[in-house]
Amino acid sequence: MRKIQMVDLKSQYEKIKPEVDKGIQEVIDNCAFINGPAVHGFQADMEKYLDVKHVIPCANGTDALQVAMMALGLKPGDEVITVSFTFIATAEVIALLGFTPVLVDVDPETFNISIESLKKAITPKTKAIVPVHLFGQCADMEAIMEIAKEHNLFVIEDTCQAIGADYIFKDGTKKKAGTIGHIGCTSFFPSKNLGCYGDGGAIFTNDDELDKQMKVVVNHGMVVRYYHDFIGVNSRLDSIQAAILKVKLQHLDDYAKARNYAANYYNTAFANHSKIKTPVTAKNSTHVFHQYTLVLNNVDRAALINHMTAKEIPAMIYYPVPLHMQKAYIDTRYKAGDFPVTEDLCASVISLPMHSELDDEQLKYITDSLLEFVNQ
Ligand SMILES: *Cc1c(COP(=O)(O)O)cnc(C)c1O
Repeated sequence: MRKIQMVDLKSQYEKIKPEVDKGIQEVIDNCAFINGPAVHGFQADMEKYLDVKHVIPCANGTDALQVAMMALGLKPGDEVITVSFTFIATAEVIALLGFTPVLVDVDPETFNISIESLKKAITPKTKAIVPVHLFGQCADMEAIMEIAKEHNLFVIEDTCQAIGADYIFKDGTKKKAGTIGHIGCTSFFPSKNLGCYGDGGAIFTNDDELDKQMKVVVNHGMVVRYYHDFIGVNSRLDSIQAAILKVKLQHLDDYAKARNYAANYYNTAFANHSKIKTPVTAKNSTHVFHQYTLVLNNVDRAALINHMTAKEIPAMIYYPVPLHMQKAYIDTRYKAGDFPVTEDLCASVISLPMHSELDDEQLKYITDSLLEFVNQ
């Protein structure tokens, strides 16, 4: 059996090696390392894939969120709502820019932003909402957009974990995750569903004005060459990474299918188990399983991880600490118990290996090993 990894980038690369190597070699041959044809080519392919007007490539997912936030014209002290159950980057950029991150709880079924909790958090200072499409499926965007419209708020989708997922509207129509709000942000970190071989990110929008502003922000606030009208940043996707992404984008839907195959295998093995709750797919989204995350009930999680580790099966906790309990973000506004769903999840979730290269032999070994511990 091949060694089991959380993400198996090597096996995936071996299948696309000729295409990837050719793309990288072309960049080196024409020496267009910054904003070269590979970047523009990937940008155009991504716009087409997402059916979105503008894609702005940038250096990483955190920058994507920061640039989006910088383009909105917010003032220090303005409030931006996001969830306490996410990767830190989502709240980090809000705090870094001097805005106030307002945290809310998540839904226990989908792990995405709780609409009830969101409604309660809105104040006259609220300017934006950042829903996170956690683990690979979309938050309830229709409800979020309705609330945003009512209160005149911007919506920035953090779609770092859900690139390629479809949001399904009540009338059955679909749109790609990240193209429903005013701005969508994604990451091409190697382990993401569409990952490059280093750092990368992108911002999406259908709004021409926001597009114009964000293109200025990523380029030092420069409108005319060497004339800087705004304080910006330097955030670029490099050409070699773009060449790799251009190849991998063609396989993204197949990768999602392979991830769904693995998820179904896990779901079947753990079905109706009293101690294991398998992931719930929301009605309003397809799932691209960035993570396959179980909720354990009455299982010693640390001992389970030791058991899996002894069997050379990696298992991870995403995320062990809610944002409102992180040292750097401890805030007099929040205390333990404020976000019970998030806090319960942090104490009881476990994520299993999930990638496009898992085979039946590996899946059987993982599920057998987990059940062996849980059923003992
Ligand atoms: C990965 C991730 C980010 C940050 O992306 P980087 O490219 O690592 O900066 C932000 N938000 C979420 C939800 C993520 O999973």
